[in-house]
Amino acid sequence: MAKGMLIIGAGECGGRAALALRDLGYDGPVTLVGDEPHLPYERPPLSKDAMAGDAPVIKAIASDEILAERSIRHIRSVQAVAIDRAAHGVRLSDGSILPYDKLLLATGSLPRRLPMPGLGPRCVYLRTFNDALAIRAHLSAGNRIAIVGGGFIGLELAAAARRLGAVVTVIEAQPRILMRGVPAEIAKIIHQAHEAEGVKILCGDAIAAIADDGAQVRIALAGGQDIVADLAVIGIGAVPVTGLAAEAGLTIDNGIAVDAELRTSDPDIFAAGDCCSFPLAVYGGRRVRLEAWRNAQEQGALAASNMLGAGEAHAAVPWFWSDQYGLTLQISGLSDEGSKVVRRDLDDGAFILFHLAQDGRLVAASGIGPGNSVARDIRLAEMLIAKRAKPAPEALGSQTIKLKSLLAA
Ligand code: FAD
Ligand code: NAP
Repeated sequence: MAKGMLIIGAGECGGRAALALRDLGYDGPVTLVGDEPHLPYERPPLSKDAMAGDAPVIKAIASDEILAERSIRHIRSVQAVAIDRAAHGVRLSDGSILPYDKLLLATGSLPRRLPMPGLGPRCVYLRTFNDALAIRAHLSAGNRIAIVGGGFIGLELAAAARRLGAVVTVIEAQPRILMRGVPAEIAKIIHQAHEAEGVKILCGDAIAAIADDGAQVRIALAGGQDIVADLAVIGIGAVPVTGLAAEAGLTIDNGIAVDAELRTSDPDIFAAGDCCSFPLAVYGGRRVRLEAWRNAQEQGALAASNMLGAGEAHAAVPWFWSDQYGLTLQISGLSDEGSKVVRRDLDDGAFILFHLAQDGRLVAASGIGPGNSVARDIRLAEMLIAKRAKPAPEALGSQTIKLKSLLAA
């Protein structure tokens, strides 16, 4: 009898993989194990829309009914603690052992911890729905919120907190916000939007000390400023969850190392989503780890297909978005692959920066503007990147030449 497909991690990637196995016609046992108490759910709303109402509401990826209908066994609030590769079994924190024919590790990532003394109950992180519930309770008019880290979590939460009338200060150690992966020209627009909404952004200053007395937090900056807040939310990056894989002797390299088919160093074990590093074909096999929603979805589906023996290689171009106030940022590709930038202005102040490699190849596009204004052109840019196209810089920068025509060329 088939031991079936076992998925550890019931997040975006694990949830999508379980559904994909059924979409692909697999009719053996599918088991999804997650250590959170909820159905698989979407994380992006947690720093955005979910904060807007009185209390965050879960946006589930699949309901109990759908999981039951598709015979997907979902085990909640239980952690996978060890993999016995020889026996093809995984031991759970409740002592039970689940067998597998193929195993998918979709364990995601966790917030990087601020390595400082003085943190207490008023210093929190945002990763889970339960974290969002706890943070939302503090986002009220006049409440002081300090945000450590001017990255995506910090800035999206700053926007949500301002909308609720909180007094927000963002502390970023680097000379500017969104230093990694977002071009300075775009980060400047986001910085200005936050300041216009009343967020105080302090860049280029390190934290010298933190004192949390349980009622408020005092953050002393090296430059001499003191920030006192009712809550400090720390958003200084994420680290992949690799412990289970490492203890099982799988290769780790900035995440669980997988090949182009998302297979780990054990041919019966796959890894996908935030937890894995993989060779990105579009950049000649450069090994990367992506922490993005669409990547988790795509890799969940690809892993499912390859667990069933499809032998399909990863070919997607990275893409992600961020919403702050009325602005949407979208980036396709990896801008650090480029050495030249060409700007195209769109309507309503929106613009796109095209990043070109030395040889003229389009390697990334970063856009910002109100609402959905950059979506279409970023999508077309993504297609050009996938095609490894070398469009003329003058055409990319032109306001009259349509990107679609470059695709046809
Ligand atoms: P996760 O969603 O983290 O799921 C992993 C799951 O595995 C977790 O539930 C974890 O608890 C569980 N787990 C781990 N180890 C074990 C174990 N041993 N046993 C059992 N269970 C285990 N991306 C974007 O592109 N755009 C956005 O706007 C955006 N907004 C975001 C906002 C927030 C607040 C957060 C936190 C992330 C956001 N992201 C965004 C990133 C995106 O949500 C992630 O890239 C995506 O969730 C990754 O999916 P995953 O399944 O790999 O990991
Ligand atoms: P992030 O985007 O990597 O940003 C972390 C920021 O904190 C970086 O600017 C980082 O600077 C800074 N930082 C690091 N150490 C610091 C310190 N000691 N003091 C002050 N600042 C410090 O990560 P994140 O915002 O924490 O997000 C966590 C996860 O959620 C990621 O997986 C992210 O992809 C995901 N997420 C994504 C989105 C989105 O895509 N829209 C939205 C929310 C969350 P350095 O560059 O120097 O490290």
